[in-house]
Amino acid sequence: MAFETVIGLEIHAQLKTESKIFCACSTQFGQEPNQNTCEVCLGLPGTLPVLNKLAVEYAVKAGLATHCQIATKSVFARKNYFYPDLPKGYQISQLERPLCEHGYQDIETSQGTKRVGITRIHMEEDAGKLLHEHPQTRASGASWVDLNRAGTPLVEIVSEPDMRSAEEAVAYLKQIRNIVRYINICDGNMEEGSLRCDANVSIRPVGQKEFGTRTELKNINSFKNVEKAILYEVERQKDVIESGGTIVQETRLWDADKNVSKSMRSKEEANDYRYFPDPDLLPLVISQESIDKIQAALPELQVAKAKRFVSDYGLSDTDAKNLTQSQGLANFFENAAKIYGDGKQVSNWLLSEVLRELNTANIEIEDSPLTPENLAALLKLVDEGVISRKIAKEIFPKVFAGEAPHAVVESQGLKQVSDTGSLEPIIDQIIADNPTEAERFRGGDQKLMGFFVGQVMKQTQGQANPKLVNELIRKKLS
Ligand code: ADP
Ligand code: MG
Ligand code: ZN
Repeated sequence: MAFETVIGLEIHAQLKTESKIFCACSTQFGQEPNQNTCEVCLGLPGTLPVLNKLAVEYAVKAGLATHCQIATKSVFARKNYFYPDLPKGYQISQLERPLCEHGYQDIETSQGTKRVGITRIHMEEDAGKLLHEHPQTRASGASWVDLNRAGTPLVEIVSEPDMRSAEEAVAYLKQIRNIVRYINICDGNMEEGSLRCDANVSIRPVGQKEFGTRTELKNINSFKNVEKAILYEVERQKDVIESGGTIVQETRLWDADKNVSKSMRSKEEANDYRYFPDPDLLPLVISQESIDKIQAALPELQVAKAKRFVSDYGLSDTDAKNLTQSQGLANFFENAAKIYGDGKQVSNWLLSEVLRELNTANIEIEDSPLTPENLAALLKLVDEGVISRKIAKEIFPKVFAGEAPHAVVESQGLKQVSDTGSLEPIIDQIIADNPTEAERFRGGDQKLMGFFVGQVMKQTQGQANPKLVNELIRKKLS
């Protein structure tokens, strides 16, 4: 039987505010356990939450950037459950009246453009963390609780079950990550957990209208694992159905080391959580005027930017898409292109040499010492014939590390030899040393030009101007 895959994603994005969503505690990562806590986020009785205004603004930004309608009135609700990392015994979230609804994102896949519906984006608080593997907790034979993360603001972005393959799911997730980074509300770091994704997966016989029963896959911390976890789950569900079984609605945990998923618990329903409006928080009311203001301040997003790069700088679609991967890279490109005067060359360098150095150093371009001015200056040195392209590539690591191209060329004596006076004696000597080759060249064997140029380059350590060398050899051997 042929099956169709159906996928919906729930993406949690940690908002980049300095303080928590309902108290003034810091959200700084990597502090001593329980240092970033107070009565409110520890859930002590009698405390009251106060909503972080910036977190609301960030959530509105997320909604607007994904074409959602923003509710001028939304309501916080308590989602009740017991777990040691949740001191209040409930998580403050939104259920019936979320902040954002009815959005969409267009994604590009090998099948073309596809629209994925966004059901809702709501605000909520993160829970704390249990330390099972910490050396101290191990020694004590117990799990310890770190509540530094408790109360960190999150948005949960819930998609419609619109995706039909692991490829589409990954493309959608990448797009959402790109957007939250562009609008600067989340750093998008999946390994550190600031962007987390749960994948809901079901299959149905091709042609059937009703959806099959879904399972929810948790604990997926990279794009690669999203793909692997979905492909694994689809095969598992096929096996169950083809051997006469039925799929149970459950939450499964992805094990990235073993490449398998394991059943964690049977799926709970919203009713199980005894949701009710949080009596400690007023409904969240936002004026249309503030929403419009936030909308007006949204930056140009990747899709629009890439289109503009194609028309303004004559780049290919692929190059434009790669350059707009991150806003930092795109800004660097535009600055360097303006200084240098041509986008194509700058784009070629950015997508090859620069990306290679960034990957090796494992940093973003914003954090690298390379400046648009220095990249443009390096390209100009090549255009002016001061250095060859080959030398430019050789000294690039130094320029990447912050040195000015002129200074590197000066101090290493790398100036291209472009004067006839110093090249002629070298060429004469080479011709004298290779009479047979010279004879064959005179006789019409043009292929030997490469041999002669190579000899000159060898003698000049690659610093001879190749164009001039060509001319001189031709003149002398004609
Ligand atoms: P819950 O919190 O119970 O997981 P949500 O409504 O928040 O429920 O999320 C449900 C997610 O599951 C959505 O992303 C939705 O698109 C997806 N989904 C719903 N039904 C199916 C299905 N049959 N197959 C795959 N995904 C589904
Ligand atoms: Mg869920
Ligand atoms: Zn606190």
